[in-house]
Amino acid sequence: MHEVVEKVYERVVARNRGENEFHQAVREVLDSLGPVIAKHPRYADDGLLERLVEPERQIIFRVPWVDDAGNVQVNRGFRVEFNSALGPYKGGLRFHPSVNVGIIKFLGFEQIFKNALTAQGIGGGKGGSDFDPHGRSDAEVMRFCQSFMTELCRHIGPSTDVPAGDIGVGGREIGYLFGQYKRLRNSYDAGVLTGKGLAWGGSLVRTEATGYGAVLFAQSMLATKGDSLEGKKVVVSGSGNVAIYAIKKAQQLGAVPVTFSDSSGYVVDEAGVDLDLLQQVKEVERGRVADYVERRPGARLVARGSGGTGGSVWDVPCDVALPCATQNELDGAAAAALLRGGCGVVSEGANMPSTPEAVEAFQSAGILFAPGKAANAGGVATSALEMEQNAGRTRWSFETAEAKLADIMQDIHDSCVAAAEDYGRPGDYVLGANAAGFTRVADVMAAHGIV
Ligand code: GLU
Repeated sequence: MHEVVEKVYERVVARNRGENEFHQAVREVLDSLGPVIAKHPRYADDGLLERLVEPERQIIFRVPWVDDAGNVQVNRGFRVEFNSALGPYKGGLRFHPSVNVGIIKFLGFEQIFKNALTAQGIGGGKGGSDFDPHGRSDAEVMRFCQSFMTELCRHIGPSTDVPAGDIGVGGREIGYLFGQYKRLRNSYDAGVLTGKGLAWGGSLVRTEATGYGAVLFAQSMLATKGDSLEGKKVVVSGSGNVAIYAIKKAQQLGAVPVTFSDSSGYVVDEAGVDLDLLQQVKEVERGRVADYVERRPGARLVARGSGGTGGSVWDVPCDVALPCATQNELDGAAAAALLRGGCGVVSEGANMPSTPEAVEAFQSAGILFAPGKAANAGGVATSALEMEQNAGRTRWSFETAEAKLADIMQDIHDSCVAAAEDYGRPGDYVLGANAAGFTRVADVMAAHGIV
């Protein structure tokens, strides 16, 4: 690590005790910046790095609500408005019991560079709550969302901060959040949230965008080797929105996805995933992966044992791996298993799903590896397209929105390739994404002065 950068990192650790995921995300970016600062020392001037790692604003609030049994429940809400150099803060809300300030900060920090890579004029932020929507009735989710928005509404706005979904926050939650925002503000600000329903300002392709984008990125990486996804065996983790649409796009491009997972275990379907059935189970019934296996002859369930035993999807030999579940789901041992199984491409649909050891293993094996901040940027990029349509009071066709998404993903890919070459490490998408994202934000922060 460059000396200046090392000091910045030490300060982050000292100042944000116990926030391990945040430390990890900062370290991953700072590790890449050595060659950038060596070439352009101005990036270490004016406390730019120190400012970059300190969120502009962090909001933590109480979210009280009443459950169906009449008991008062209290959750914690967060919004970290990390960096607004390039535009209004933009990033999702995550509702999951694991959520804490360190997780939200790691996600917000990643979002800064991801959003810069999209070139859509959006800053970085993230929010959420330790609320667990699993097993809650629609009415409970609605009351929670209303309470959450009652506080959040004073901090957001179409030109200030524009939240969207993430784990545990989909169309239903965005609907409840928007309804409450509109009521409190008496203002139909369609552009205050993205991931909205199609009848009230949502964009076609937004639902599909993150998964589609991660697969398009894999396809672009393969194209640099004169190869494609056609006929490739693909292992996917997760079974939420990102995983489902990664599977769909992979199938459209002639690949054969054979796995998916949730916290109860993973499914291997060697005949190729039956997407209609998976969507029925997960999107319509909000069920578990076991419900798929019951209705699908030939598919097998590997249940997660206590303490996480039972292995993981990464034990299944494949050509391409798409981690689409959550952070640090793919560790060094899993990376070794993937490499043994012949995997030559990893494109991250989730945020920071590979641990530093896994990334190191992929890079030293010389396989194609795309970090999430580049590969999963299609979701937030399409959110920016949704904001654009809202601002113009217009609606594009599926084809128009999908073509724009494909162009943006290709552009992100090419920016990563160009930056990696610039800094002397061709084919290193980690350096490429960090350097390209960082320089875009840093140049604008410098132009805005010390703020
Ligand atoms: N949660 C998504 C992400 O991690 C999307 C954010 C958005 O659309 O604002 O990028």
